[in-house]
Amino acid sequence: MKDQHLIPSVDSLLRLPSGSQLINQYSHTLVVGQLREILQELRDRQDVVIPAGEGILAMVESRIHTLTRPTLTPVINATGVILHTNLGRAPLSAAALAAMLQAGQSYNTLEYDVTAGVRGSRQVHCERLVTRLSGAEAALVVNNNAGAVLLILSALMKGKRVAISRSQLVEIGGSFRVPDVMHQSGAHMMEIGTTNQVHLSDYEDALTGGAASIIRVHPSNFKIIGFTDQPVLAQLAKAAQASNALLLDDLGSGTFLDTSAYGMQHESMVQESILDGADIVSFSGDKLLGGPQAGIIAGKAELIRKIKKHPLARALRADKMTLAGLAATLTHYLLGEAEQQIPIWRMISMPVDVVRERALYWQDQLNAGEVVPGESTVGGGSLPGETLPTWLLSLPVNSVDRFMKQLRGAEVPVIARIVDGRAVFDPRTVQKEEEGMLLATLNKNYPAYRTSK
Ligand SMILES: *Cc1c(COP(=O)(O)O)cnc(C)c1O
Repeated sequence: MKDQHLIPSVDSLLRLPSGSQLINQYSHTLVVGQLREILQELRDRQDVVIPAGEGILAMVESRIHTLTRPTLTPVINATGVILHTNLGRAPLSAAALAAMLQAGQSYNTLEYDVTAGVRGSRQVHCERLVTRLSGAEAALVVNNNAGAVLLILSALMKGKRVAISRSQLVEIGGSFRVPDVMHQSGAHMMEIGTTNQVHLSDYEDALTGGAASIIRVHPSNFKIIGFTDQPVLAQLAKAAQASNALLLDDLGSGTFLDTSAYGMQHESMVQESILDGADIVSFSGDKLLGGPQAGIIAGKAELIRKIKKHPLARALRADKMTLAGLAATLTHYLLGEAEQQIPIWRMISMPVDVVRERALYWQDQLNAGEVVPGESTVGGGSLPGETLPTWLLSLPVNSVDRFMKQLRGAEVPVIARIVDGRAVFDPRTVQKEEEGMLLATLNKNYPAYRTSK
């Protein structure tokens, strides 16, 4: 047993000069709380030497530092994955950030109609923009697209049958599985077709068999290749309409710009889906839209009205800062300046020559490595398998895993990729303002790992 007399009391420690200093600097409760925890740990452990009073107080200070230091902090994304879910998906435009700051700083018109001096709706701010951009009659914004899908099914399809192709029973990640969401909403799922083939007649049979709606779910993160077929959305709309059923479209990423203009596969656009006859569409705010996390629902006015009234709409409602940031992001599309103003579209549209010039500049600044061709990806549950040609700075290192760990430990962590045992850095996802910090981090850490091969 340890001699308990060696462990000082809280009071005696607080009376030491650095004890009262800690109390002055931080809250009394915080200091005493940490002190008690440390003393308890010392009591519990048989093998440790009890530090002197000042030593214990130094431990308190170090723990308070750790506890109060933010953990959600910036990183430099040099992976070339534009929508990296683990790295926060879409960085926001300057205008979106300014709008969010303003909404957070002061009272605002979130639910207040200043002209009439009466209560308003938080939905008006984005709805007028979404309807204009998509051609839909009405819209609402909720917390995220997973919530949007659950809300749509709960409000419109509870106790009713929903036809879905077996090729679309997807898991998005984070345990969002379409069959589970369907079950949670109270809708009855009618699986039709096969993994690779679903025909219009499968949908028609389901409608004859009592389906109240068809849902199309975007296969966000996988690709079925080979012998595959499925009817286009306009055909589904026609079939649904003929049976007085609804056509629901979970677009996943959702985009207002044509991805095929950037050398990638054409991703279904929101306005196309509405034009083709979807009654309700939903998509994310922070995927290809390039805004804050949100779920956007657009479609027929009477259906949107029903959705707005469902209790889940309140449970999933979006915050004022989200709405402010999303409205600013949507405005970029309206003004035709999305490609210039929205960071992810700046990255997607960055000409490959510009990427190469930046990689060459990095090579020059470091006086090391090679500039090699490679591929950037969109990621974040959009355009699976699609890549953009890019140029990478490739650094030969003697221990690539340790080097990567070193970079992750930098003041602003740098996240890169490993290709053939080398550390590679893709300029496409590194924003101009981050370049100085990236080069400083590489200049500081690379020399110790540098090899010729
Ligand atoms: C990403 C995605 C979701 C979930 O969207 P979040 O905004 O991340 O909640 C739902 N459905 C599809 C098809 C998706 O790609």
